[in-house]
Amino acid sequence: MLRYTLLILFCITIAKSFAQITDPKATEVWEPEPRIVKPGVGTAPPSDAIVLFDGKNMDEWTTDDGSAAKWKLEDGAMTVVPRAGGIKTKRSFGSAQLHIEYRAPSVVKGEGQGRGNSGIFLQSKYELQVLDSYNNRTYSNGQVGSIYKQHIPLVNAARPPGEWQTYDIIYTAPQFNADGMLVAPARITVLHNGVLIQNNTEIKGTTEYIGLPKNSAHDKLPLMLQDHGDLVSYRNIWIREL
Ligand code: MG
Repeated sequence: MLRYTLLILFCITIAKSFAQITDPKATEVWEPEPRIVKPGVGTAPPSDAIVLFDGKNMDEWTTDDGSAAKWKLEDGAMTVVPRAGGIKTKRSFGSAQLHIEYRAPSVVKGEGQGRGNSGIFLQSKYELQVLDSYNNRTYSNGQVGSIYKQHIPLVNAARPPGEWQTYDIIYTAPQFNADGMLVAPARITVLHNGVLIQNNTEIKGTTEYIGLPKNSAHDKLPLMLQDHGDLVSYRNIWIREL
C-alpha cells in the first residue's frame, strides 16, 4: 500500500514540476549552436558546399574505368557526348543536399524517352529522371522529375527546351544492417525549378529499366550523370553532405 502511495506522490510531484514552469528561459536551449554557413549570392553555392562543377573544368569527374570524363566542356557547361558513357564524381557521397542545373537541347529531336534524356543517379543507383518533358508525353513514372519507374512527380514543372532548369535535392541514403538487409530505405525530396515535385519520397531500390527495384548493401558512392545519347548539358553543381 505504501508503495502505491509513494508512486502516486511521485507522479503528482512530476506533474506539478511540469505544470509549474513559469519562466520562459526554462525552455530555452542554447547548446549546441548551429555553425555559420554563408548563403551563396545569386547562383553561387553556400560557403560549406563541395563544388562539383563550376563551369571551368571537369576535375571532380571521372568514368567507370577511371579515365577522364569525356563530355564536352563549353560555355561554362558540360554536355553529354553520345556513347562517351556516363560520368561520375571521384568522391563518394551518402545523404546530401544537391543543387544541379541542366538544359535539354534547344533543337528538339525525338519523342518520349528519346528527347533530352539523361539522369541524375544518387549514389550511382537511384535515378532522378532528366528528360525534356515540355510538350512531350511519355509514361508518367518516366517523365522529368520521376524517380525512374517508381514515383511520378507531383507536377510537371519543366521549362521549354534550351532553357536552364534547376533541381534542388535533399537525399537521405538507405541504411543496411550488418547482414546487409535494408532497414531504412532511401528518401528524396526534390524541387524542380523551385517547385516541389517529390516530397520525402521513399525510394524502393535501384531504378531499373526492366523489372523491379533491387536492394543490396552499400556505403557512400559517387554521384553519376547519365549518357542517354541526347545532348543534355549540366552546370552549377554543388553538394552539401548531411
Ligand atoms: Mg534517364
